[in-house]
This record gives sequence, structure tokens and C-alpha cells, in this order.
Amino acid sequence: MEKIDYINIIGAGLAGCECAYILAQNNIKVKLYEMKPNKKSEAHKSNNFAELVCSNSLKSDSLTNACGLLKYEMSRLGSLFVDVAHKVQVPAGQALAVDRDKFSKEITNIIKNHKNIEIIEEEIKDIKKLGGITVIATGPLTSSDLLQSIKEMIGEECLYFYDAAAPIVEADSIDMNIAYQMDRYGEENKGDYLNLPMNKEQYFSFYNELINARQADRHEFDKLILFEGCMPIEEMAKRGEKTLTFGPLKPVGLDNPRNKEKNYAVVQLRAENEDKTMYNLVGFQTSLAFPEQKRVFSMIPGLENAIFSRYGVMHKNSYINASKILDRNFNMKENKNIYFARTNFRSRGICRICCIWINGSI
Ligand SMILES: Cc1cc2nc3c(=O)[nH]c(=O)nc-3n(C[C@H](O)[C@H](O)[C@H](O)COP(=O)(O)OP(=O)(O)OC[C@H]3O[C@@H](n4cnc5c(N)ncnc54)[C@H](O)[C@@H]3O)c2cc1C
Repeated sequence: MEKIDYINIIGAGLAGCECAYILAQNNIKVKLYEMKPNKKSEAHKSNNFAELVCSNSLKSDSLTNACGLLKYEMSRLGSLFVDVAHKVQVPAGQALAVDRDKFSKEITNIIKNHKNIEIIEEEIKDIKKLGGITVIATGPLTSSDLLQSIKEMIGEECLYFYDAAAPIVEADSIDMNIAYQMDRYGEENKGDYLNLPMNKEQYFSFYNELINARQADRHEFDKLILFEGCMPIEEMAKRGEKTLTFGPLKPVGLDNPRNKEKNYAVVQLRAENEDKTMYNLVGFQTSLAFPEQKRVFSMIPGLENAIFSRYGVMHKNSYINASKILDRNFNMKENKNIYFARTNFRSRGICRICCIWINGSI
């Protein structure tokens, strides 16, 4: 077996940290390059590693669900990501949701103090600069110079789509005379979600403002290709006046326990942290201009005086044509020293890079 002195990993996000940890735990030295805190993408805000830029939910934790089963398998393989997620879990029904600050702080701490991991705070602009085995784990918001270098290496344009994050409001600013706590089909005053009910009139006033609201300016000039699994709420609404009531504002199983009335639509809020001081508007990923988010989302009953601690934003996500460029181990077909690591979209944490050592390439 060939002796390897160390492996380079570019990017200390979810995939890069998981990869570094698994290698380091197997006594393989790692040089982990991260451009933060010197440079941050438009979506990254914190100086810590493994930052969740969007939803704090890692999807189902149930063994009867594919996402839950995959997390269980990762855990059996010694995953740092899944272990820490369980430690900093916040209530979210069957989903594994985390306190995003505690999650990234804990992972940063473990990675920074691992004897086999050397952290180098540097933006890698040219992939050719690093010799030896290199794992590219810079995610969908890879910096532009590196993206250009990747394009040159793979000999084709990268693909892209636009994706959005949902806003977060402060708990103290939600009107608790209107909001009620209940999971879908659950009992009154129990469950992990806060619900904001709408009657038909309220829904249509909100709907009409939503579809006509002003979008944030977009700096890129390419075609707006959206990801169906994370469609901005205003775009989804434009598909039909009742679309939202069969999607994120679905009222079934959420009858208002205070008056037993059936609602026309219900907005659900999920806690962002253990202390429940902040709530995420579930399914409200958006690309509206910030003042428009404040104006339109404050029309939701219970959010009239909401204080927004984070507004929703839309970003361009780049990706590669993996099935063409990579083999089944995420190794470049044309350059056996280069691997790509990325958490699986929407079910975060399926860091296939573990295969570097599992398949015995090292
Ligand atoms: C707006 C938005 C919303 C999203 N919503 C969801 C969602 O709801 N659910 C979901 O599962 N996924 C969502 N995603 C995708 C999400 O980003 C991934 O699930 C996850 O963060 C990807 O992990 P990663 O480790 O591949 O990349 P990241 O977590 O982005 O980590 C990449 C790291 O590489 C660093 N880096 C970048 N370029 C360089 C460079 N040249 N040199 C050195 N370091 C560099 C970055 O600073 C960052 O720390 C969303 C993404 C965006 C942008």
C-alpha cells in the first residue's frame, strides 16, 4: 500500500470537516484549508467551521426513513457530524434539527484540536497549487477563482441553480395570543412547532401581496434556474393561488385548538435554538428584497410586529456533472489525486468521501 504523508482538504464546511475527522481518526494527517475568516461567501456569516447557511433541519431521524437510515449508518461509521447533531439537537418532531451556533462551535472545537489536523486559513485559488491527494470540499458556494480553476481542470463549464434560505424571527416578537403550539395531527400545547392560522380572507390578502412583491436585485446575469426542492415561496405561489395551501401552508391536521375552526392556511414556525428565542418560517425561503419581506411576512397573523433576526436570501449554487466527471468513489476519472466531497443536498451529511479510506485507495 502506498504511503501517504498527508491529505489536503479544501473547505471546512460540513463535508470538509467530516472528511478531515474520519481521515484523522484513522491516523492520516490532514491539511485543512479554509478561507474563513479572511474571506466569506455571501451566505456564510460565522467564523466557525461547518456553518449551516440555511435550514437548521437535517431532515428525518427516523430509521423508517431513508434520510434517517443514512444518518444511522454514518453514525455507525463514526460520523462527527451526526454525533454532534444529536448533542445539540433542538425539538423538531421526527426531524433532527440543531442549534446551528452550538453545532458549528462544537465541530470547530473538535477539528481545531485534533492532533492529526493542521488548519491553514487560506483561500485556495488554483487547484494545481496543491500537490498530492486533494479533496475539494468547497461546496455550492466555492470561491470564484477556485471555481474557474476547477472548470479548467474538468474541461467544461460547471452547472448551477439558484437556491434560497428562509427568514428567522425573534420569539418575543411573535403574538402568542394567535400562535398555538402543536404538531400536525398532534395535541394542543404539545409538539415542536408554533402555528399561525389564516382564514381565507387573510390568506388571499397575503397571497396577492406576495406574488407582486419586489425581488432583491440579482448580481449575476445568467438564467434563473431554480431548484424544485427549495423553490422561493413567491415563485411557488405564482404557480397557482392555492398552491401554497397544498405546500408549506397546508392546514390539514392543524385545526386551531382554541376555537376548533378549520383554517384555510397555516404558517409553521420551527425553533432555531434550544432556548427557543428564535424561530424559522418553515418553507419560506425567499428572494424578496428585505423591506418587502418585512412588509409581506408581517401580514401573517401573529407576525404583525415580528422582528427579523435574519432575512431570506437567494444564492447561485455551482455543481459539477458528477456522473460524468467522477467515479463511484467521487474520485476524478481523469486525475486520481483529486476527490470531491459534498454533503448530499437536502439530507445533509451523507459525506461519501468516507469512501477514500473505506475502499482502500490509501
Ligand atoms: C442559500 C442556500 C440555502 C441552502 N439550503 C439548504 C437546505 O435547506 N438544506 C440542505 O440540505 N442544504 C441546503 N443548502 C446547501 C448547503 O449549502 C449544503 O447542504 C451544505 O452546506 C454543503 O456543505 P459543504 O460542506 O459541501 O459546503 P459548505 O458548508 O458551504 O462549506 C464549504 C466551505 O468551503 C470554504 N471555501 C469555499 N471556497 C474556498 C476556497 N477557494 N478556499 C478555501 N475555502 C473555501 C467555505 O468558506 C466553506 O466554509 C443551501 C445552500 C445555500 C447556498
